[in-house]
Amino acid sequence: MPPVPLTQVHLSEPDFRPKDTRQDRFSTTRFLAWFLFFFYFSGVHQAIIYFSGIAGFFGLTQALVMSLLWLVPVMLFPARGKLIAGITGVVLWASSLFSMGYLALYRQDFSQSVIFIIFESNWAESSEFLHSYFAWWMLPALAIYTLIPWLIWRRLQPIGGKPVTRLLLTFTICLAVCWPMLDRVIINKESLANGFSEQVNSMEPVAPWQLVMGYVKYRQALSNVENRLLASDKPPLEGLADSNADTPSTLVLVIGESTNSRRMGIYGYYRDTTPRLKAMSDELLVFDQVYASRPYTVESLEQALSFADQLQPKLHLEMPTLVDVMKQAGYRTYWITNQQTQTQRNTLLTTFSKQADEQVYLNNNRSQNSAQYDEAVFRPFEDLLNRPESKKFILVHLIGTHRAYRYRYPDTFKIFNDNEDLPPWVRRKRHRREYNEYDNSIVYNDFVVASLIEQMKKSGQNGYLVYFADHGEEVYDYPHHLFAGREEAAPTPAMYSVPFLVWRSESWKRNNRIDVSYDMTHRIYSLSDFFHTWMDLAGISFSGFDPGKSIISRWYTPGPVLIGNPAKPDALVDVRQKFFPAAATPVTTMTGPAPEALQLPAPAYSPGYGAVTGAVPALDQWLLHP
Ligand SMILES: [Zn+2]
Repeated sequence: MPPVPLTQVHLSEPDFRPKDTRQDRFSTTRFLAWFLFFFYFSGVHQAIIYFSGIAGFFGLTQALVMSLLWLVPVMLFPARGKLIAGITGVVLWASSLFSMGYLALYRQDFSQSVIFIIFESNWAESSEFLHSYFAWWMLPALAIYTLIPWLIWRRLQPIGGKPVTRLLLTFTICLAVCWPMLDRVIINKESLANGFSEQVNSMEPVAPWQLVMGYVKYRQALSNVENRLLASDKPPLEGLADSNADTPSTLVLVIGESTNSRRMGIYGYYRDTTPRLKAMSDELLVFDQVYASRPYTVESLEQALSFADQLQPKLHLEMPTLVDVMKQAGYRTYWITNQQTQTQRNTLLTTFSKQADEQVYLNNNRSQNSAQYDEAVFRPFEDLLNRPESKKFILVHLIGTHRAYRYRYPDTFKIFNDNEDLPPWVRRKRHRREYNEYDNSIVYNDFVVASLIEQMKKSGQNGYLVYFADHGEEVYDYPHHLFAGREEAAPTPAMYSVPFLVWRSESWKRNNRIDVSYDMTHRIYSLSDFFHTWMDLAGISFSGFDPGKSIISRWYTPGPVLIGNPAKPDALVDVRQKFFPAAATPVTTMTGPAPEALQLPAPAYSPGYGAVTGAVPALDQWLLHP
């Protein structure tokens, strides 16, 4: 038998070679397939954001680098690689749904505030929210979004390579992933803390770190607020004097929720959504140029109820708050809330309410239907009015016209059902329904606020009641962009215009005169300055009181009405600049010092915009002339 050529042996007897050498060699293609699988969960989101021009390239680069991290366990434990990838994939998929969902609804990247709101909300609130945003196309979109990574996962093959190769790769990946920190600490010789925060910044755009870091920051904020806001060793305000110290008085603050003043009849809206308040309007001071500083509850209220404002956003943690000052002035303080705060679960909002001497939580049952109408506050309000203390401060926090609007009012308040008088651009069935539901929730809110005023009036107590909403809400108000909700990155007047009403008892009016002879109700005003108006109304003075920030003071000064996230000071913008194109030239029709006298550090607005007397934002003009 002639000797068999060597090549032929190889071809005809492959069994002599170890099986699957091809599988054992490192394969770049297979490596890329694994990488693609992990990158998918952050990459799709960041790619959409980049290519639609919402944000720059940073997020996409970070997604590319940070997704490498998940390859490490796969390379260290190749035998279990697919299982590890499967589990990691599910976690990444689930956390990416938040940012993808947010992107689909708001066309914006996830922000810190949004993550905070997720952790502030409870289940009932979230399901209402999802319910109101749900659209049929979301189901197939979700199916496709899920199917793609599943198909990739099924085809994943071992990356291969010798242990040395895999270890070297692992080391390189760790180096790349940790580079932001190493760069700071080793190359630039900065502190470990700096390096760590750089690392956090780089990982934030990538799933699941967005949520993980968001949660860590939220917990930090919560414990910080708990420690500082509720601290008993806060120094009292110096020079505090109460001009009503010897008179029994009951002061009431009613805080509404998500109510755009331009959708209220009393503010000139074409539909009569506030018949009750309108009927008592000659007993009210109706301020029509008041704007929230932030479109979110906690963020807005922490400024409205303290010295904090857009330029000094942390003062609520450093200085006494409105509730602290009322206590210092000798008032017994009460906080009634129909917001969905759960006593068991600590949130920033519950922490805020704990400043008061006593709380009444009305909406705190987890299993309870979230449709708990605001009239639930009448009973406890009545009880508190009857309390014997001579000085009472009662804060009533309503759920107001919060989304989903149809859960905010009983059937008897289904006033607007027809579509005949809807704005012409509200055409789709779903939009028409929600538009009407929002107006109905405002009619019910009118009933609640007017009833609280009636209760106060009937009690015959000496004092006043102030009502404002924490922020507005856009509900298909503008033809060029049909949208319902709030979004700080895309502000509109509807999200910031808030009702601001003051009712005073006859005795209070006699003893605490406000010079209403000039038309103060058109003064432009930021809710973040409310603290000073409240103290002025109450007749409480102290060193550091700024009458320029009081809307009822004869020394009122039209100050900046800044909106935007104070964490990015150069992005703050003045309402006059943003919503009143006509006001771009200085208008100084108000009495008081000229606006030029203001010394303000932020560069993004001009103090020269002055007051916008009696005007409605250009975008909202149609509401007056449908
Ligand atoms: Zn709110």
